[in-house]
Amino acid sequence: TLMTKITLDIHKFPCLNDNYGYLVHEPVSGKTAAIDTPDAEKYLAEADRKGWTVTHILNTHWHPDHAGGNLRIKEVTGCTIYGPAGEAEKIPGIDVKLSEGDIVEFGRTNARVMDVPGHTLGHIAYHFSDQDVAFVGDAVFALGCGRVFEGTMEMMWNSLSKLKALPSETQLYCAHEYTQANARFAVTVDPQNKALTDYALWIDERRAEGLPTVPTRLDKELATNPFLRADDPVLQAAMGHPGNTVETFAEIRGRKDRF
Ligand code: ZN
Ligand code: FE
Repeated sequence: TLMTKITLDIHKFPCLNDNYGYLVHEPVSGKTAAIDTPDAEKYLAEADRKGWTVTHILNTHWHPDHAGGNLRIKEVTGCTIYGPAGEAEKIPGIDVKLSEGDIVEFGRTNARVMDVPGHTLGHIAYHFSDQDVAFVGDAVFALGCGRVFEGTMEMMWNSLSKLKALPSETQLYCAHEYTQANARFAVTVDPQNKALTDYALWIDERRAEGLPTVPTRLDKELATNPFLRADDPVLQAAMGHPGNTVETFAEIRGRKDRF
């Protein structure tokens, strides 16, 4: 018999100052994944409220606002912790070390692991291809990307290029609500981009009502996010690096860091 396609139930809630918490529930098996663990007590309370028990933690990278709640959630639920092989020694309680191409079985669906280093050297993303969903941590944000703390600009651009190649209808679940500040910067580097200025207006309306701007869709970001558009000749010329994608990316990242 054909198995009918399931739809993941993704519960989003604010954590800490500007992080998003995500609990992902697979309704047939009942499995529930915490995507990163910025705040253990918040995650446990939200899971309780939904009647779910956390079975998996899927970490994207080692920063405390992503893995800081691991041990407490594992202590309460006995869940299995999955995280990046490339920085496993910094992931509290890690059980399963993941890298590019690994598959995380999750009830009726699964996630394919992508190595997306740059923000940290081991950063990974989780692509649920049959759901058109990717959890990207701090690799890419709506109209932004993560600061390049540990890797090189070229490494970060290569990681963003892999995310750019996902199906364009993919919903990107990033880890922070940074969109409005990102928009203020983006319009300074790409002021003639009508799709961007329209998006910026929409963002201001959403935020004025206290509404989230995350997740975002990849096709929208491809048209507007300057960090994903460093290969665009118009942006390359405007940044003073015609024909050079990595230099253009580095210029945009540097300007944002000083903005
Ligand atoms: Zn981070
Ligand atoms: Fe973060």
